[in-house]
Amino acid sequence: MGDKPSEFDLIARIRTRAMLREDVLLGIGDDAAILRVPTGCDLVVSTDTLNAGVHFPHGTAPFDIGWKALAVNLSDLAAMGAQPAWCTLNLTLPAADAAWLDGFLDGFLELAAAHRVALVGGDTTRGPLSITATVFGFTPHDAALHRDHAVVGDDVWVSGTLGDAAAGLALWLASNFSPSTVAPSDPYPFLPEINKQTPSPASGRRQGRGNDFSHTRPHPNPPPQAGEGVLAQSFASSGRVPAILTVGSPSPLAGEGLGRGRENASNLLARLHRPTPRVALGLALRGIAHACIDVSDGLLADLGHILDASKVGARIDTVALPTSPALSTAFDETARQRFQLGGGDDYELCFTALADRADDVLAAARAAGVAITRIGVVEAEHGLRLRQDDGTLFDAPTLGYRHFDSSREPVDPA
Ligand code: ADP
Ligand code: MG
Repeated sequence: MGDKPSEFDLIARIRTRAMLREDVLLGIGDDAAILRVPTGCDLVVSTDTLNAGVHFPHGTAPFDIGWKALAVNLSDLAAMGAQPAWCTLNLTLPAADAAWLDGFLDGFLELAAAHRVALVGGDTTRGPLSITATVFGFTPHDAALHRDHAVVGDDVWVSGTLGDAAAGLALWLASNFSPSTVAPSDPYPFLPEINKQTPSPASGRRQGRGNDFSHTRPHPNPPPQAGEGVLAQSFASSGRVPAILTVGSPSPLAGEGLGRGRENASNLLARLHRPTPRVALGLALRGIAHACIDVSDGLLADLGHILDASKVGARIDTVALPTSPALSTAFDETARQRFQLGGGDDYELCFTALADRADDVLAAARAAGVAITRIGVVEAEHGLRLRQDDGTLFDAPTLGYRHFDSSREPVDPA
């Protein structure tokens, strides 16, 4: 291979490293792959694209891009309760860069091997950096988890911890600018500021389950969106101070917050760059969970999808949101909750299950080796209500990144 590898050199590089499985009858190299689905199984398919500057910052390490390209797809299979088996990889590269490809494959194939996923095909083209992976997995017939099966009275659960990736991104962005640039601004002006609100007079402290919602009120300051928008907003202004760092109220990063945040940055950044798809948990929840989704665009947005699809509502206790030590050390309560509710890229599972089956849910999580937390309850009243630790209830704002939002600038002019 010369200085400038051809498309075929790159494919050959990929092919030599791709793992095989017995159910791959024909892998990379022909016009199509031939794959054998086990008898008695449904084939579950999902695909996701990562665009440079939208889904990951320009300058992200190739290993991390490779890891994340597969992780976000495996996370979708996890949310369906599917066992991953195969994947394809469509690479659009600005240049035929063998070193970059090797680094990318290191990340992509390490995660693939960990889940015994065979890379069976793809496409390699030239253009602005973009990666599309498609994953294929199995469930026994009719056993997949759906997002529209939540039932009134279900508990709402979430795996792992929330908000770390969004916090990591805020720190990542902040680290590219001087503290004086960052301190006076708000890294997430569009995330909810619920715990800055004064309690409504009608609400008592520490209300138990089964509140009436007569004192629920609309969120006073509804944010536009979050999730993938975090990146979209910040990189829209590439080369300048990201828009999200230039507007808004006093920052949780101000003063010593930034210093403490930097100490924890590597933990938080690891969550941003190397998400852990909760595959084992998704499998263990088959036959137990009613509805399941992976949290990619932020808890409010993704739980909102469950609720909309299931035609129900929910109440979430904000004090119950699972928090990593790094997040609680690096950020104050206000920032923490905003990352946890509105930030994206967590790739945790959010699911509902009969309250009667809490023991089964906990046993499934133990078997999968994943911590889970009960954060709320499904209710008949539509919408999502947030209960603060003082008992105050707020209607959650609608969150979630919209790629074709007309108020948004084109993201990646490169
Ligand atoms: P065709 O012209 O028939 O589409 P290609 O030259 O695009 O063939 O691809 C040749 C083989 O290499 C095919 O089996 C294809 O699936 C595989 N392939 C191409 N690009 C990739 C990639 N990025 N990752 C994995 N397999 C790939
Ligand atoms: Mg092709």
